[in-house]
Amino acid sequence: MQVYIIGAGPGDPELITVKGQRLLSEADVIIYAGSLVNPALLSFAKQGCKIYNSASMTLGEVIEVIKKSVKNNEMVVRLHTGDPSIYGAIQEQMDALSKCGIEYCVIPGVSSFLATAAALKQEYTLPNVSQTVIITRNEGRTPVPEKEKLKSLAAHEATMCIFLSVHMLDQVVADLIEGGYEANTPIAIVQKASWPEEKIIRATLSTIVEKIKDEDITRTAMIVVSKCLDSNYELSRLYAPDFAHMYRDAK
Ligand code: SAH
Repeated sequence: MQVYIIGAGPGDPELITVKGQRLLSEADVIIYAGSLVNPALLSFAKQGCKIYNSASMTLGEVIEVIKKSVKNNEMVVRLHTGDPSIYGAIQEQMDALSKCGIEYCVIPGVSSFLATAAALKQEYTLPNVSQTVIITRNEGRTPVPEKEKLKSLAAHEATMCIFLSVHMLDQVVADLIEGGYEANTPIAIVQKASWPEEKIIRATLSTIVEKIKDEDITRTAMIVVSKCLDSNYELSRLYAPDFAHMYRDAK
């Protein structure tokens, strides 16, 4: 195998997988998504490794670099932020590689919505509060299918992790309330989860827009809306003394 599509994790260079780090250190060529991947990860690269920042490249140019490198018998790592399967635009790359007859392997990564839970010290799935996590985004230049608009997803009142939308926070909040969340539902915004400059802001749907006004929150931020953030929940059945299961008898 010569081509690896690797999840870099959310930012902290130690949050790449062991396998991802090893492959990164063996690569002859690294193409990284410079707008989001922490450049500190490039310190794993070996000497002489050719490094490309895909932020200024087109899909065609990325594929061209991979094709040329494979022809030269070089090992290529395509490094994406978080997990590559989530808003990573990797399908088009994988399909283009397949069309050229180039084999590749995908190494998963820690997605930023999980690093956000860690930063918040929060479980997203509390008994009797929410047992569902919705990963979504507001519509921007990329369209969102009609049935997946924030307004309709909000009707479930499940935990929602909203990517790519913090710059449209007013709209997001309006849609969530219109869709069914109570105005006092807790919301958290985590900017650059797992980076040294990580920042957490907690509020409710009705107060967040005002609260965030003086904060310098830009693009690399996750919005979490969930009753889990502030709730009375039932203890889990899994660890309840009277709950027997395959690995433990009831007490
Ligand atoms: N594949 C990535 C997501 C890429 S889309 C993943 O699995 O995490 C880019 C969006 O991800 C950003 O707009 C932001 O909403 C979110 N994001 C990426 N890194 C983040 C981080 N460290 N902290 C909070 N949000 C982050």
